Amino acid sequence: MSNWSESLTVAKFGGTSVANFEAMSRCARIILANPSIRLVVVSASAGITNLLVKLGNEKLSGNERESVLQQIRNIENAILNDLGRPKQLETTIELLLEQLAEVAAQPDLISSNKLKDELLSFGERMSSQLFAEVMNQVAENSVAVSFEGRQLLKTDSTFGKAEPQVELTKNQAEKLLNPLLQEKVVVTQGFIGSDNFDNTTTLGRGGSDYSAALFAEAVSAFALQIWTDVPGIYTTDPRITSQARPISEISFNEAAEMATFGAKILHPATLIPAIRSGSKV
Ligand code: ASP
Ligand code: MG
Repeated sequence: MSNWSESLTVAKFGGTSVANFEAMSRCARIILANPSIRLVVVSASAGITNLLVKLGNEKLSGNERESVLQQIRNIENAILNDLGRPKQLETTIELLLEQLAEVAAQPDLISSNKLKDELLSFGERMSSQLFAEVMNQVAENSVAVSFEGRQLLKTDSTFGKAEPQVELTKNQAEKLLNPLLQEKVVVTQGFIGSDNFDNTTTLGRGGSDYSAALFAEAVSAFALQIWTDVPGIYTTDPRITSQARPISEISFNEAAEMATFGAKILHPATLIPAIRSGSKV
C-alpha cells in the first residue's frame, strides 16, 4: 500500500478557483504540495454554468444563442491558449464545444429537464479536462488524469435535482476509481452524474460540494477539503455585506442549518454523507 492511502484526501475546487489558467495553476500547486490529495473534484469555470442555464431556460433567437455560445468559447479558449493548445486537449475541447452547440440548438430544450442536464454537464466536463492538463504542466510530469465522473456518481432520474444512489456510487468507485488512484491524481467533475439508463443528471446548482462529499464517502477518504475564495464560514455572505463576521468554529448541526437556509458556502446536502459515515468536520 502506498503511503497516501491511509490519509486519502478529496479536494474540491469551485468555479472561481478554476476560472482561468492562473487560478487553476494556484490550485494545482496546492494539490501537488499535499501528496494525500488523490481525488480532485472541480466545478465549471466561473460564469459557465450561468451561461448554460441561460441557453437552457430562455427563449433565445439564433443570434442571441450564438452570442452566449461565443462567451463560453472565449472562456474555454483563453485557458486552452494559456496551456499552449496541446493537440489532443484542443481536439477534446473543440468536440465538447461542438456537442454543446448541438444540444443548445435542440428545439425542445426549454421543456426538457433531461436535455437541460445534458447541456449543464458541459461546464464541468471541460474544466476537468483543462484542469488535469494544468496539473501536468505545473508538475512538468504526467501526474494527473481526468476521469468521467458521470460513470461514478449514479443517481435517480430526477433531472435538475437528482438523488444519488449511494451504494451504486460506492461500487462504481471501487471498480473504476480505486485502481486509477494508485497511479495518478484523478480529476473529476462535481455536480453531474448519470441515471440507470446512463442519461446525464445534475444534483442542482452548487452541487459540486455535494458530489465531493459523495465521492469522499465512496472512496472512504480520510478527509474532504472544500476550497473556496471566501476565507471561512461567515455569519452572512461577505460578498453581500461588510458586516459579515467569520465564525471560528461551527458544529455539524449549525453548518447544516446554515446550508439549508441558503448559505452558499455549502450545498445543503453536503453534510449528509459525512453524517452517514460518522466522520467529523
Ligand atoms: N457548476 C455548478 C453551478 O454553478 C455546480 C457547482 O459549481 O457547484 O451551480
Ligand atoms: Mg459552490
